Amino acid sequence: MTSLLLFDTLTRQKQDLGPPGQAPVRFYSCGPTVYNRVHVGNLRAFLFYDVLKRALLWLGYPVRHVMNLTDVDDKTIKGSRAESVSLRAFTERYTELFLKDMDALGALRPDVMPRATDYVPQMVDLVQRLLDKGVAYRSDDGSVYFKIGAFPGYGRLSHLEARTLQAGAGGRVAQDEYEKEDVQDFALWKAWSEEDGDVAWDTALGKGRPGWHLECSALAFEHLGESLDIHAGGVDLVFPHHENEIAQSEAASGKTFSRLWVHNEHLLVGGQKMAKRLKNFFTLGDLVQLAGATPREVRYALISAHYRSQLNLQVTYEGEGEARRPVRFDSLEVARGALRRLDQFRKDLQAKATGEAPAGGAERLARAKDEYREAVRDDLNVPRALGVLFELVTDVNKLGAWDAAYAREVQAFLDDADRVLGVLTPEPEALAPDEQALFERWKAAREAKDWAAADEARAALQAKGIQVQARKGSEPTWARG
Ligand SMILES: [Zn+2]
Repeated sequence: MTSLLLFDTLTRQKQDLGPPGQAPVRFYSCGPTVYNRVHVGNLRAFLFYDVLKRALLWLGYPVRHVMNLTDVDDKTIKGSRAESVSLRAFTERYTELFLKDMDALGALRPDVMPRATDYVPQMVDLVQRLLDKGVAYRSDDGSVYFKIGAFPGYGRLSHLEARTLQAGAGGRVAQDEYEKEDVQDFALWKAWSEEDGDVAWDTALGKGRPGWHLECSALAFEHLGESLDIHAGGVDLVFPHHENEIAQSEAASGKTFSRLWVHNEHLLVGGQKMAKRLKNFFTLGDLVQLAGATPREVRYALISAHYRSQLNLQVTYEGEGEARRPVRFDSLEVARGALRRLDQFRKDLQAKATGEAPAGGAERLARAKDEYREAVRDDLNVPRALGVLFELVTDVNKLGAWDAAYAREVQAFLDDADRVLGVLTPEPEALAPDEQALFERWKAAREAKDWAAADEARAALQAKGIQVQARKGSEPTWARG
């Protein structure tokens, strides 16, 4: 079987995406609101999208991935006004930081990353369609609201009860973000108000700006059409954001907006929801600085739990209240240990390729391939997929030695498996300045055929745990270990 199974939030069941075809999988994921540096909880969601996209490609599906950048909403406007900079300059800054973080974490770039503000005409058209169909209405101030009572499917994704819906009928909510207790008609278009400052567009709907929920429907329509195959987001987006996306999209098009809805669970840090006052609010930069972690270790820690399980990033703290500070990032140390084991195995594969073709080796590798594929295919079971790799490491190590062909086959499998995980390739390590100087001295001495000086430099590097190598016809290299 090659088709991907995904747990669909709408039907509360695993659904089969169907076998890969010629047409790309139309994949939409909700992107960042570019008003601050994204925290590690956000990163979990973005890495979930990345692993999902990689799994699709690995299973043979062509993919078209669209992820929006929310560059106009309550938070971005507030942030830019607080700093007295233009909305575009403000959101540009955080867009760049976001892309830097994602690149460092090895996430594939989406095929299209549209900024909401570049699509105001499309959003206005969508609102007009909803007005024409009578499922949206204007309020006294000129804003336009979606009438949830006019859309019978409202609440299906988040399983809102009829009672909750009735309680909200007739009320209106203007804010972009709100809780289930406030289920009410939501703003599609917000007439200009003083808090918006100079953020406004003059459109057929009047002077104003889009509400946050509207952009994802308009951008998905624009870049993927009116029906998607997979829509992904964090579990906190189920209500109201995705509920509202479904309502406005399906009321306008009359079509199913997305075949599958997939959501990743929350990330806890130190067993609690992230909050600045708990000192457990971290960005990638914080983890690199405070924990001495590499982005590869952070990626491993964030993808290694099943996306539908809560993930607790374990941190050990000292002190109380204001003095409370993190002293150890336990989950990142676990990640470091796991990656070291895999890196060591990669080295051993070459070093121990001095024997014969191992008995049973081919069968063991074939089993690992089958199990790995099944783990990925069955609702992206990354913990199981990693388990398959570690079990293989244990069993191959038990063989003691093997031939070069077997080493190559196992290595090829790891490389292939890594197309999904993106964590197995070691980061290139840099030499410290004094090490680099020794390495240069060794190379220069060799060039000059001053063998005594070359040996001396080599010995000094070895004392620092660095092995050097010079093969005919290729650049001299170094490695730790
Ligand atoms: Zn969205």
